[in-house]
Amino acid sequence: MSSNTFKIAVMPGDGIGIEVMDACIEVLNAATKKVGGPGLDLQHVNGGAAYYRDHGTDLPDESFEAARNADAILFGAMGLPDVRKVDGTEINPQLDLRFGLELYAGVRPVRVLPGAPTPLGDPRAQEIDLVLIRENTEGLFADIRKPRTESTEQAEDRCLITRKGTERVVEYAFKLAASRPRTRTDARRVTCVDKANVLHSMAFFRSVFDDVKARHPDVDADYGYVDAMALNLVKRPWDYDVMVMENLLGDILSDLTAGIVGGLGMAPSGDIGDAHGLFQPSHGSAPDIAGKGLANPVAMFLSASMMLTWLGTGHGEDQCLEAGALIEKAVADAFVNAALKPSEFGGPHGTADITKAVLNEI
Ligand code: NAD
Repeated sequence: MSSNTFKIAVMPGDGIGIEVMDACIEVLNAATKKVGGPGLDLQHVNGGAAYYRDHGTDLPDESFEAARNADAILFGAMGLPDVRKVDGTEINPQLDLRFGLELYAGVRPVRVLPGAPTPLGDPRAQEIDLVLIRENTEGLFADIRKPRTESTEQAEDRCLITRKGTERVVEYAFKLAASRPRTRTDARRVTCVDKANVLHSMAFFRSVFDDVKARHPDVDADYGYVDAMALNLVKRPWDYDVMVMENLLGDILSDLTAGIVGGLGMAPSGDIGDAHGLFQPSHGSAPDIAGKGLANPVAMFLSASMMLTWLGTGHGEDQCLEAGALIEKAVADAFVNAALKPSEFGGPHGTADITKAVLNEI
């Protein structure tokens, strides 16, 4: 048995966030039971758009503190398009957590599961194995929490790139490229994605990338302008390894990379800093399918697997690593053995079928 019990702040949030979280807890409990640990002390934490509508706050102080004091945060999705602040923007407590806990690396692994359909016809799509890293705490999102001067004539958002903010996320990218297990190739490469041909802030991002690159001669590096990368990631995504980029660029390209491996329900993520980690599917609350049992919970399961791997690596806890690997393998095996075709791919399988198939493999 594992001697460790980890405190997990569980934030289901809104819409399908609640549905995929319920399914995920079943899978987490089954995997940790099978492996014999670790203990997980799952603590439900309030927050989200519905909570804001009912209580006037989207992330109460006690929820932020619970997240800060937890060993890891497991997050569903938050936001509802019809719940808005007076300035017309939506509530987004996930951004408050990213800023407040300095979760600077938005880590989004992109893999085609064996047997899972991909919209790309090319057989090389099965070789896609890349990690997109989104800088999470500055860029075009840097000022979103600052008071605005209201004007009916213009609006602006500043793109803030700092040396400190860029260095730490690029360093994370190079270390990940040097250490991560790969399914496809031994090449280790970090691609800097930017718009350095036009924007001063992005040219600075690239110059800091170059400074960090010089400290990692064992890892290759190259560059891509974001517009060309949108094309390349559709035409030949199997050619990429680790990519690092500004906040909004990562927000957009990570939906594209989710699309090439089947959809948002297939795309896990971790928001990782030096002291905290938050793990969540890349999708939102999907109000169009919420309550219908159609949500694909795979991204949530794989995010929980990432959480266990992160805890296991950080705490030297083998059973966390084993339970994380077990969930990842169970998901892959379920696609093959149960011939899963989630409704998001136009198939017949909803949340309950997919959860059952994954539990069968654990
Ligand atoms: P979304 O990700 O919720 O949905 C986009 C599309 O993908 C929808 O058609 C949806 O049905 C589909 N989809 C998403 N996840 C799916 C899954 N697991 N299985 C099957 N289909 C899935 O994005 P949106 O519609 O732009 O946003 C809806 C709400 O979620 C908004 O309020 C938005 O602000 C919020 N949001 C939250 C997060 C977050 O919590 N991190 C991220 C993105 C959007």
